[in-house]
Amino acid sequence: MLENGTAFCRRCGERIPETADTCPYCRSKQYISADEYGKNKITAAILALVLGGIGAHKFYLGKPGQGILYILFCWTFIPSIISLAEAIIYFTIPKEQFRAKYG
Ligand SMILES: [Zn+2]
Repeated sequence: MLENGTAFCRRCGERIPETADTCPYCRSKQYISADEYGKNKITAAILALVLGGIGAHKFYLGKPGQGILYILFCWTFIPSIISLAEAIIYFTIPKEQFRAKYG
């Protein structure tokens, strides 16, 4: 049981005020609103559309290995086609599903 008004940091585990947005110890963000996830989903989709051929959205989503593959094969235009499909997926999947997969 936690004392009233305190919580544990999601990253470093320090005891912090329940209402703190960022941890005073490691400065990691504690609460990420649904809006920010929405933004991320749209950002990923736009990156996939505009820079998908070089895997920009993969780097953005924390999958640099896949991003490098996109760069290696960008001359085949296959990554561009795949990323176009991925952009459509990012635009259309629900936020929660996007968060579960990439958050
Ligand atoms: Zn912390």
